[in-house]
This record gives sequence, C-alpha cells and structure tokens, in this order.
Amino acid sequence: MAQVSLRRLVKEYEGGVQAVKGIDLEIADHEFVVLVGPSGCGKSTTLRMIAGLEDITGGEISIGGTVVNDIPPRDRDIAMVFQNYALYPHMTVFDNMAFGLVLRKFRKEEIQRRVMEAARILDITQLLDRKPRALSGGQRQRVAMGRAIVRDPKVFLFDEPLSNLDAKLRVQMRTEIKKVVQTVRTTTVYVTHDQVEAMTLADRVVVMNGGIIEQVGPPQELYHRP
Ligand code: ADP
Ligand code: ADP
Repeated sequence: MAQVSLRRLVKEYEGGVQAVKGIDLEIADHEFVVLVGPSGCGKSTTLRMIAGLEDITGGEISIGGTVVNDIPPRDRDIAMVFQNYALYPHMTVFDNMAFGLVLRKFRKEEIQRRVMEAARILDITQLLDRKPRALSGGQRQRVAMGRAIVRDPKVFLFDEPLSNLDAKLRVQMRTEIKKVVQTVRTTTVYVTHDQVEAMTLADRVVVMNGGIIEQVGPPQELYHRP
C-alpha cells in the first residue's frame, strides 16, 4: 500500500495562479522521495498540501490509507522540518524536542524516553540544556529533525532544510539526514531546488515544472537522457 497518495491534486491560489495542475503520485512505505525543480514549479505548495498547511483546490491526498483532505495538520500522521528550523528561542533543546509530545499529552516518561532516543540518534545529547541561540546552524538543523523524529510519524516532510547552511555544512548534513532517515525508516518527502541534493538523497526523484510532474524515477535514470 502506498504510504502517501496524491490523486489529481490541484492548487489554485487566489488571483487564479494554478500552482499545481492535477498531479498523481504514489509514495511507498519507507521510500525517500525528493521533489525537485526550478523556483515556482509548485514543490513547496505540494508539500504544504500534504502537511495540511495549504487547502487543496481539487483532488485527493491519502496518508497511510486515510484520505486527509479534511483533517487538520496536527491530526495528520506527519512531521515537517522547515528551512528556518522554527525552533522556540526561549526553550531549551530538550523542551523544543518535547513540545509536540507535550501538546499531544504524552506521559512524561514516554516524552523523556523519546527525546533521549532521538538525541542519541542525532548525537545532540550534550546539547539538551542549551537554548537555540547557543547552537550552530548544523546543530539547529539536528534539533529540528529531532523534533520530527520524537513524534514517530508515518511521514517526514522536509522543505528545503539545508538552504540556510553554507556549502560545506550542506554536504555534511545531507549525509546526516540520509543516515537518520535510514535509521528510523520513515517514509520521506523532501523538497529542494538543488539537483545534486536530489540525486544524492532520493530513492526516487520527482521532477516538477510549471505545476506538473515532468519526470519520475530513480536518480540514475534521470538527467542522463540524450
Ligand atoms: P516552489 O516551491 O517550487 O518554488 P511554490 O509552490 O512556492 O513553488 O509556488 C508555485 C507557484 O504558486 C508560484 O507561481 C508562486 O508564485 C505561486 N504561489 C505560491 N504561494 C502563493 C500564495 N500564497 N499566493 C499566491 N500565489 C502563490
Ligand atoms: P520546565 O522548564 O517546564 O520547568 P524542566 O526543564 O524541569 O521543565 O523539564 C521537565 C522534564 O523534562 C524534566 O522532569 C526532565 O524529565 C526532562 N528534561 C528536561 N531537560 C532534560 C535534559 N537535559 N535531559 C533529560 N531530561 C530532561
């Protein structure tokens, strides 16, 4: 069964811009799919519709076999990692990672267990008492991932997570993300405009252009056409 399915998915913004023009996509359990394409092609809109952060104009989205069209973001079985990390500046790393679980009324021992486990996977155990301002860009990115991992969602959604990092760190964190996702084995949809990033990370690359899907396939089969 597909973990995420998009069927005839359409997004038209007010003013008539058709950002997504009826795309179909089936994403398998444990698959790492990267949406790539030029600025304005509809990648981020697609991701935000899966997250429920953007209303859909037409079509259908399923997550884990359930149609989620009318389900609000926090009740979807997803966790999203943003480009700007979206960490709470006044909270410690521990509390940032725990926050989503506190909101969902998890027991204290379970929160503790999940945060410590995610911190171990991400190698940030020694940073748990710090505030975000005392962290490097790469460390903030790890915390943002930690916050997604503790939720143990069916699907991770990444929106250009590395674009605020310098080139060297970007390459390092790319490897890190791949490793972490392989460890937790969560289905992933990852948006980037960087083709190298797409090729390195993806099990399957989805090339978007002008609101449609232009090509889909494993990295080695793309971009090598005559
Ligand atoms: P990408 O992520 O590939 O850069 P987006 O999904 O952000 O592309 O945008 C797709 C198209 O939709 C673009 O033409 C963009 O200008 C337009 N768009 C995005 N957000 C809005 C919005 N809130 N209101 C109107 N148009 C938007
Ligand atoms: P508050 O800031 O709301 O007073 P605390 O900082 O005391 O909350 O943390 C609440 C719980 O979170 C603690 O009981 C503890 O179990 C856990 N916790 C907080 N920081 C850490 C940490 N660095 N390592 C392990 N557990 C922590």
